[in-house]
Amino acid sequence: MADVVRDGWINTGPRAKAFETEFAAAVGARHGVAVNSCTAALHVAYEAIGLRDGDEVLVPTMTFTSTAATAWHLGARPVLVDIREGDETLDVEKAERAVTPRTKAIVPVHYGGQACELDAILDLAKRKGLRVVEDAAHAFPASYKGRPIGTFGDVTCFSFYSTKTITTAEGGMACTQDDDLAARMRLMALHGISKDAWKRYTSEGSWYYEVLAPGYKYNLTDLAAAIGRVQLARAGDMLRRREAIAKRYLEAFGSNDALIVPTVLPDRTHAWHLFSLRLRLEALPLSRDAFLDELKARGIGTSVHYIPLHLQPCYRETFGFRPGDFPVAEDAYRRSVSLPIYSKMTDADVDRVIDAVLDLVGKNRSSDTTG
Ligand SMILES: *Cc1c(COP(=O)(O)O)cnc(C)c1O
Repeated sequence: MADVVRDGWINTGPRAKAFETEFAAAVGARHGVAVNSCTAALHVAYEAIGLRDGDEVLVPTMTFTSTAATAWHLGARPVLVDIREGDETLDVEKAERAVTPRTKAIVPVHYGGQACELDAILDLAKRKGLRVVEDAAHAFPASYKGRPIGTFGDVTCFSFYSTKTITTAEGGMACTQDDDLAARMRLMALHGISKDAWKRYTSEGSWYYEVLAPGYKYNLTDLAAAIGRVQLARAGDMLRRREAIAKRYLEAFGSNDALIVPTVLPDRTHAWHLFSLRLRLEALPLSRDAFLDELKARGIGTSVHYIPLHLQPCYRETFGFRPGDFPVAEDAYRRSVSLPIYSKMTDADVDRVIDAVLDLVGKNRSSDTTG
């Protein structure tokens, strides 16, 4: 970042280009289009595949709002689908039942950093003529059957938000193998202008440009890209640290019958963006919310992933979803406690989380049996 400031080219320029090239190479993709968020990446991806008014898009209800809201911006209807038990990714059979003649795309979300059942999703997409846009906000670096996440669908969208596995403070990347999709996303990410600023302001470019479409303003700055390139170089080391933390959690909680640990599937590299524990509430007298409060009182930050989209007011009011529509997601949500998992956690931090969780479970279970 200091170099960027010294050079003086702080906005989109050579570092953003280099970050695109390096990130695309890391996931084995032909193109990487750097943008200022994963939300922006999803928006330009949906626009590039031609999503428009009246189209339907299959989205798991267990995700962040922008997976669906960016399709909604284009006039498409997000058709929410339940998740399957276990890994809590899109239920492909339920997705198939939700396909109509208007369905244009399916959006697998690699929940927590673990790849969805991609073979089945790609097969469904092929049979029904659907485009596939992957929400890989959690899934760098991750792989499915030995191949990195980044090239399975038509477009794969990554997030570099500050809580994600690598960060640029705010940032994202849309990766694709398709030259036309890449060109369209690049165009729409910068005003619909046919040349980017770098070419316009250097000797190899000229003052002339054309506005080919009413584009967005989604470019990633060189300041952000400079952070991204350093983060990218460290991504493997940071993943190994998260893997070690996940292993500790799995060992500590895996055999506890009041806790349900995340299902780890074969043939995948898990990015471990989240460690979402599920409480077996039947075995615990305290509620999930009380559990979160107790951890907070001990100085342990937690979160809940996710409040399903079909329970959110705007999705309910606009599309008529109701509580009870997607029981697997609702059940997971009710039990959800996402524990801290990040590369800077020390062994002592991890011990403290494990001790607190086991203490809370133990205390509450003994009071259960005695009273
Ligand atoms: C974080 C996140 C996004 C949005 O990413 P931003 O970079 O913050 O726009 C989209 N989908 C999922 C599943 C996410 O977790």
